[in-house]
Amino acid sequence: MSPIVGIDLGTTNSLIGAMDAGFPILLADADGEQLTPSVVHFPQNGEPLAGRAAARMRALDPAATVYSVKRFIGRRVGEETDGVSYALAGERGAPVRVRVREREFSPEEISALVLKKLRADAERALGCEVTRAVITVPAYFNDAQRQATKAAGELAGFTVERIVNEPTAAALAYGLDKLGDRSKIAVFDLGGGTFDISILELNQGVFQVLATNGNTRLGGDDIDAAVISDFRLPHVAQASRFARLQISDLSLEADARLHEAVIVAKHRLSFEDEARIDLPFLAGAESFTHTLTRTELERLARPIVEKTRAHCLRALQDAKLTPADLDEVILVGGQTRMPLVREFVRAIFQREPNISQNPDEAVALGATIQAGILSGAVQNVLLLDVTPLSLGIETFGGLMNVIIPRNSTIPIKAGEMFTNAVAGQTAMKITVLQGERELAKDNWRLGEFELAFERAPKGHARVGVQFEIDANGILHVLARDTKTGAQKTVAMTSAVDVSDEAVEKMLEESLEHAFEDMSDRVFVEAKLKSDELLPAVRQALAQAGGELSDDERALIAQRVTEVETALATGAGQPLQRANTALDAATQRLATLLIERALRA
Ligand code: AMP
Repeated sequence: MSPIVGIDLGTTNSLIGAMDAGFPILLADADGEQLTPSVVHFPQNGEPLAGRAAARMRALDPAATVYSVKRFIGRRVGEETDGVSYALAGERGAPVRVRVREREFSPEEISALVLKKLRADAERALGCEVTRAVITVPAYFNDAQRQATKAAGELAGFTVERIVNEPTAAALAYGLDKLGDRSKIAVFDLGGGTFDISILELNQGVFQVLATNGNTRLGGDDIDAAVISDFRLPHVAQASRFARLQISDLSLEADARLHEAVIVAKHRLSFEDEARIDLPFLAGAESFTHTLTRTELERLARPIVEKTRAHCLRALQDAKLTPADLDEVILVGGQTRMPLVREFVRAIFQREPNISQNPDEAVALGATIQAGILSGAVQNVLLLDVTPLSLGIETFGGLMNVIIPRNSTIPIKAGEMFTNAVAGQTAMKITVLQGERELAKDNWRLGEFELAFERAPKGHARVGVQFEIDANGILHVLARDTKTGAQKTVAMTSAVDVSDEAVEKMLEESLEHAFEDMSDRVFVEAKLKSDELLPAVRQALAQAGGELSDDERALIAQRVTEVETALATGAGQPLQRANTALDAATQRLATLLIERALRA
């Protein structure tokens, strides 16, 4: 049987590993290199190149060299889709496409080329065919992004056995399953393009994610960009004797050379105090030389690194923990090598981070261990992840009905029974929502479908709706008419693009509007009740009103007016009270009706 490989499909670099005699090892390419740049180059003629050979072309042929495509995977045009040296295409709102040499590719097609290269390297290293893989994604990847990653794996010829969250994989690599029961771990992952913070708890050998937070658009790339934009300012231009105008007018090629040199300098500055950037003939006869100091780099990087703080505090808050409750803080992602980042982590979590593993390799090793678990090579560990936002459906009156609450451990299956709001209805529209707001309209709409059922009086149809989030974090929605057994299952592939900023915003808004949202819900629910009550009272009065006293009828009329007034003002609690009062005033009327029915 083909071995299962573990793959860290990173924004900047990717890695592949396999279990070897019970140990996870990373596999190297023909040149002995384990780190494969997630870069694809399309030459004028011939097959596309992936990996290091492609990365080399980034400076020479930037418009035909695609990098950081993970930022676009499963995303739509209209978000921050700038800052790359190749062209993007697609209508606003449509999935992002990459345009190279007059051809267009989806981000998953580009990722597939990187994965194919990893697969070929693994086959060479292992000496056998490799067709099964575990691939990691940032914890905040939404359904569309997970699906697209899976699709990339399939395009590369893999059966994707599991999509695993990166921080969860990293904890395995750090061997934290050996910690004592109930140990709590923070995984701080700052890579090239994404930042993730996860709080895990070890429960009898099982990793449980207590909370996740992060930003899919925050990472080392931003630090590189900050340095480059600083170079455009006069003080650097003067110091480096390079005209400012020329720096802002660099050709794509020159820009890519500058970019590469800045990254090299940034890496050196993790270990040294100064790094010289020397770019002869950067623009025509003009050369660029500049000595970047660690102090200068830190000044530029500080605001970017600072952004991680709020996410960390939020994750702790969601996990209902303080830094003192943590047993271990681990670092993942190349950018955590930067001393400034470590200083931040130390300050936020008030403890020394664990740096025992290579932060670039931890995720891939974890993915490999997970692959080992799936193939039976590693036992006694189970990985569990959580849902970042609540999932539910729209119900009567435009309310959000939560089926799977936020921070539920996945895989998970949950369901509820629903009925028809209108007599004679023959279909039920299932609108799948994601978010924390009480009203459906304030949440994100993931998808919609209809389930037909037999014509039934109001409240008689019985439709079961079940949500299942599989081990890859993909949502499958099943709706079933219990009377006829008719059912429909829909995988939510067209999920709304939920960046972590959007998740953050959603959480903030739900707190901010908690009070109004709650009173909106109270009103909608009370209105549904009034909508039933008023016609029923009118009908009952027509049938048996004559048997009531004048006082009784007057009281009912007054209570009806109160309900109508409360309905008009839109206030929930007064309407609730008016409904209760109308209910009480019509008790005798209801009894009379029942007696009539019995007599009949
Ligand atoms: P990853 O996405 O985990 O591969 O992380 C890549 C990011 O880490 C890139 O932004 C790299 O520039 C950065 N990085 C790698 N090595 C170092 C280092 N020694 N010092 C600072 N940043 C680094």
